[in-house]
Amino acid sequence: MTNPTLMAVFAHPDDEAFGTGGTLSRYAAEGCDVFVVTATRGEAGQIAEPGLATSANLPYVRERELRCACQQYSARPPYFLDYLDGQLTVVHQGQAVGKLVRLIRQLKPDVLITFGPDGIYGHYDHIAVHRWATIAYDLAAEPDYFPDLEPSEPHRIKKLYYRVSSQEGLDARRQNGQRPAVMMDGVPFPFVGLPLAQITTVIDVGDFVDAKLAGILCHATQIGRNNRYVETPDEVVSDPWFRQETFSLAHTTLAWPVGVETDLFAGLR
Ligand SMILES: [Zn+2]
Repeated sequence: MTNPTLMAVFAHPDDEAFGTGGTLSRYAAEGCDVFVVTATRGEAGQIAEPGLATSANLPYVRERELRCACQQYSARPPYFLDYLDGQLTVVHQGQAVGKLVRLIRQLKPDVLITFGPDGIYGHYDHIAVHRWATIAYDLAAEPDYFPDLEPSEPHRIKKLYYRVSSQEGLDARRQNGQRPAVMMDGVPFPFVGLPLAQITTVIDVGDFVDAKLAGILCHATQIGRNNRYVETPDEVVSDPWFRQETFSLAHTTLAWPVGVETDLFAGLR
């Protein structure tokens, strides 16, 4: 009997932290095997504060930060697809899908999480990973595709979820004086929100906010050392929008759920 298995596929170290760190922690605590797969080491990103890394050692530092975060979530050590940050739209797409198919057949997840088509805020790397993971979800189960990979035995994942932001949560952020956007190339790219009425799955991570916060704090080169997570952690963890994480069910081999799901493994355990 193997443990229920959750696999999350993202583009950069820290993509897992803000919207899924509580979910990863919760399912690890419930006895699931939790795997994080990241396409790059975030080596092209800004360094939040001098002294935390240099551009020369950034890939190593960010790998270490993601390993630290996975420990906080009690997830397994992360897997890397070994692509370069910022370059995912120009890599060989078929090979990228093949790498994910191989990992899916090896790790045999029941549930897969990745970005939605919006890429959270339209980051091209996120959108590329969304496409690869969505295609790999299907092809991992097809014996005709990638028959020469080791392992080649097909694996059918039961559920595919996209991590999404709720519009209500983004509005609350704006009211708190935070800009619901990410700066890219000097321009704020707004987070894309879905109305709660269109969100299929809301995960209560209230019991896992400490692990989620600890995971976020591991990503020091992304958030710096002086920020709300360090300075006002009680305020952060008491925010109701920090205590729930939202997903959109994209595909399932089970009956489509009625009403809002509160468990990614609903129907599987
Ligand atoms: Zn990212």
